[in-house]
Amino acid sequence: MLQAYDVIVVGGGHAGCEAAAASARMGVRTALVTHKLDTIGVMSCNPAIGGLGKGHLVKEIDALDGVMARATDASCIQFRMLNASKGPAVRGPRAQTDRALYRQAMQDILGDYPNLTLVEAAVEDLIVEDGICGGVITQAGVHIKAKAVVLTTGTFLRGMIHRGEEKIPAGRVGEGPAVGLALTLEKLAFPLGRLKTGTPARLSGKTIDWSVCEAQPGDEPLRAFSDLGPGITPKQIPCHITYTNEITHQIIADNIHRSAMYSGNITGIGPRYCPSIEDKVTRFADKSRHQVFLEPEGLDTDIVYPNGISTSLPVEVQDQYIRSIAGLENVEIQEYGYAIEYDYVDPRSLNATLESKLLPGLFLAGQINGTTGYEEAGAQGLMAGINGALLAQAENPVSRETFVLDRSEAYIGVLIDDLISRGAPEPYRMFTSRAEYRLKLRADNADQRLTQRGIEAGCIGDERAMHWFARSEKLNIARSFVHSQKATPAEIVKAGLSVNQDGVRRSISELLAFPHLSWEQLQVLWPTLAEYEESIREQIEIDALYAGYMKRHEADIEAFKKDEALVLPIDLDYALVGALSYEVRQKLSLARPATLGAASRIPGVTPAAIIALLRYVKKGSVTVEVAKGQAYGG
Ligand code: FAD
Repeated sequence: MLQAYDVIVVGGGHAGCEAAAASARMGVRTALVTHKLDTIGVMSCNPAIGGLGKGHLVKEIDALDGVMARATDASCIQFRMLNASKGPAVRGPRAQTDRALYRQAMQDILGDYPNLTLVEAAVEDLIVEDGICGGVITQAGVHIKAKAVVLTTGTFLRGMIHRGEEKIPAGRVGEGPAVGLALTLEKLAFPLGRLKTGTPARLSGKTIDWSVCEAQPGDEPLRAFSDLGPGITPKQIPCHITYTNEITHQIIADNIHRSAMYSGNITGIGPRYCPSIEDKVTRFADKSRHQVFLEPEGLDTDIVYPNGISTSLPVEVQDQYIRSIAGLENVEIQEYGYAIEYDYVDPRSLNATLESKLLPGLFLAGQINGTTGYEEAGAQGLMAGINGALLAQAENPVSRETFVLDRSEAYIGVLIDDLISRGAPEPYRMFTSRAEYRLKLRADNADQRLTQRGIEAGCIGDERAMHWFARSEKLNIARSFVHSQKATPAEIVKAGLSVNQDGVRRSISELLAFPHLSWEQLQVLWPTLAEYEESIREQIEIDALYAGYMKRHEADIEAFKKDEALVLPIDLDYALVGALSYEVRQKLSLARPATLGAASRIPGVTPAAIIALLRYVKKGSVTVEVAKGQAYGG
C-alpha cells in the first residue's frame, strides 16, 4: 500500500509534536507517524517544563506559534520564576505540570490541527531514491512517500534499559526499542554514538511523611507561558523538599559496583548537569546531603516524582536508599528508577536547517541529536518542521529558502549552532550561559525577536499574527511616548523626585533606567503613564533597564554577523588551506561549518586557523558567497 504526504514526522514526543505542528502550519500535508497515538506528548521523565535557559526556549517556541507553551499552561500545577531576584535576562519561568493533563492537552491540540494526519505505526526503514530520502516504510510494510522526513525518535534507537545487572531492550519503560531504524541509519553510514540518561523511582504520595519535608509553594502571580489562550488554568499545589543523608550515601557507596553505570554495563555518556545519585555521591563525596524535590505528578494522582535521585542501581538497593531519606521511611515505590542507553546521531552531520548532509530530504530533531530535555527537543522539532515544509514547497530544492536563526537572534539559534559545530559529546542541555548575547535574548522579548520572522517564513497562524500586530502597535506607541517625553532635573525635583542636578534633560525611558525611579513615581510628571496595560508597561521598563548595555551589545552583534555572513563552500578542500594543522584540518573536514563564524566555534579551531581560513577564502581561491539576510546556506 502506498500513501503520500509532503512531510512525514516520525515520533510523537516533544520534537515530533512541534515538527508536525510547524510543518502543518506552513500549509503542507503532514503526517505524524508514531508508535502509539495514545503516547503523543508523553513526558518520559519529570513532569516539568521550563527552567533556566529552557524557559527561554519555550517562550521562543511560542513566539513562533509552537504548541509546547499552550500545553504547559493547560497543565501547570505549580509555577515558579527561577532566578527571580536576578535580572530579567537570566530569569527562568518553570512549570511543574500534571503529566496526564500535558499529554491530553497536546493530543487535543494536534488532534484538531489543520493539514495534519496522525498515523499509528512503527517506522522500520526509510525510502531512499537516488541518494535522497523520499519517505518511510512501516513495520507492516506500508510505504509512505514524502518530500521531506523528520526523524524524532528520542531515546528509542536501540534503547536499552539498565537497572543493576538487569538489561531490558526498550525505548522507555514499557515500550519497545526502535531497532530497524537504527540499522537503517547504520547502513547509510550515519555517525552514531551511545548516550545515556536516567530517571528516579516513582513514589506513592500517601505513604510519604509530609510533616518532615519543607513545603515549597509556587509563585504568585502566575505567568502564562503562551501569549495566546487563557493562561495557566489548573489549580496550584506546592512541591516539597527533603534531603539524602550520610546513611543514604553509605548504602549507595556500598553498592556502587552494582550500579549499571559503574559496573561497566553502560558505555554511553550521561548528562553532566543532571547527574544520577550514584554520580553525586561519588563526585561530591564531601557533601553530607543532597536535595530531593518531591514533585507531584498531577492533581488526580498520588504519584510523586523524587527529583534528584535518578539511578541505575538494582531494585533492592533502591528500596534501601530511598527509605533512608527523611519522610520516605515507609514509602511505597510504584515504579523503580532506571538508566537508558540509546543511539544518537552526531549532529555535526547536519546542516543548520537540521537536514542531514548525508541524506538530503531527511531532517533530525530532538534527543536523536544528542540533546536532553523536552524544550531542547521541541525547539529543534519546530525548526526541522519548518525547514522540512520549505523543502516540500520548493520548486528547486538546491536554491530553496531556509529558515535559520543565528546566535544573536534566539536561544534556538545557539542550540542548533552548538550542536552542528561542536557536536554532543555528552547529552546537551540549554543554559543561559551558553548564549553570548543573553542580554538581548530574553524570555520577555521572544515575540519581538521572532514572531515577525515567523510571519515572513509562513509558520505563524492567523490568531497569533493578529495578537502580535495588536501588541507591537501598542509597544510602538508606548516606546515613542517614553522616548519623546523629557524633563529637566529642575522639573523632576519640583515633582518631588530626586535626580542629579546636572542640567541634562532626560526622557522617561532614561529616567526608568535609574533604580530609584519607578513607573508609578513618574506618573506625577506624566499622568498618562497610568493608562498603559501591565504587559506593555513591564516590557518598556525592562527595555529601559537594558538600554545602556544593549548599545555595547549591538557592536558585538555587528562583528559577529560579519563573520556569520561569510559562507564557507560545502565542498571546500581544507587540505589546500595553508597553515592549518592536521588536527584542525580534520576537525573542519568533519564538521564542514557553513560559515566562518561556525568554524570559529568548533573546539580546537584556533584564532590563527580562522585567520588562515579567512585569508584563503578572501584571496578568491574559492567563490566567496555572502549570505543575504540569512546566515547560512541550506
Ligand atoms: P521522545 O520524547 O523520546 O519521543 C520519541 C517518540 O518517537 C515517541 O513517541 C516514540 O514512540 C516515537 N518513536 C520512536 N521510534 C519510533 C519508530 N521507529 N516509529 C514510530 N515512532 C517512533 N530530560 C531532562 O531534561 N532531564 C532528565 O532528567 C531526563 N531524564 C530522562 C530519563 C529517561 C529515562 C528518559 C527516557 C528521558 C529523559 N529525559 C530527560 C529526556 C527527555 O524525556 C527527552 O529529552 C525528550 O523527551 C526528548 O524528546 P524527543 O521528542 O526527542 O523524544
